[in-house]
Amino acid sequence: MSNFQQLGLEDNLLQAITDLGFETPSEVQEKAIPILLEKDTDLVSLAQTGTGKTAAFGFPMLQKINAESRTTQGLILSPTRELCMQITNEMKNYGKYVKGLNVVAIYGGASIQDQARQIKKGAQIIVATPGRMKDMIGRGMIDISKIEYCVLDEADEMLNMGFYEDITEILSHSPQDKSTWLFSATMPKEVSTIAKRFMHD
Ligand code: AMP
Repeated sequence: MSNFQQLGLEDNLLQAITDLGFETPSEVQEKAIPILLEKDTDLVSLAQTGTGKTAAFGFPMLQKINAESRTTQGLILSPTRELCMQITNEMKNYGKYVKGLNVVAIYGGASIQDQARQIKKGAQIIVATPGRMKDMIGRGMIDISKIEYCVLDEADEMLNMGFYEDITEILSHSPQDKSTWLFSATMPKEVSTIAKRFMHD
């Protein structure tokens, strides 16, 4: 069984892991983290909620972004406001020793102006629900033209909730050559269709 250090994580992230009391990586973490750290690749992962999937994509993203830059480098799309807030919270905990890190949550039902203000301060990582994200891109409040990493979390749920068009529209504003990491509890035909559509590697 490996530990987090053997997966290739740096000290500032290992310190946060110690603080959180995580002792051993879960299966999805053990499998995904080394691959995502080692190369810039797309990834499809079959993982349910509660398996530690947030950390499986969260730690590699935190290690790979440049927190000294204010440019938005990572985007995480999730189906619901609750999950969006939960992921944001986890990312802040995982990245507590990453100096200069700003993770911003974007979701509907809250003030768009407040969210725009947080983005303006420079968010290296945005965690968003598709509807509000599309809206803010359309209003010129968010620029994802330089993102390097995009996570589609609970992809099956996002499709069930009818977000296919929104996701397509959002990703049309992102670079072709980013890495896309897709996580889904189930892998119906629709999910493999979006994997084929949005992933190259
Ligand atoms: P998730 O599947 O990402 O929603 O994570 C489920 C819960 O497990 C979250 O509260 C995490 O903080 C926690 N967690 C994630 N990875 C580990 C780990 N390796 N050891 C113990 N708890 C973990």
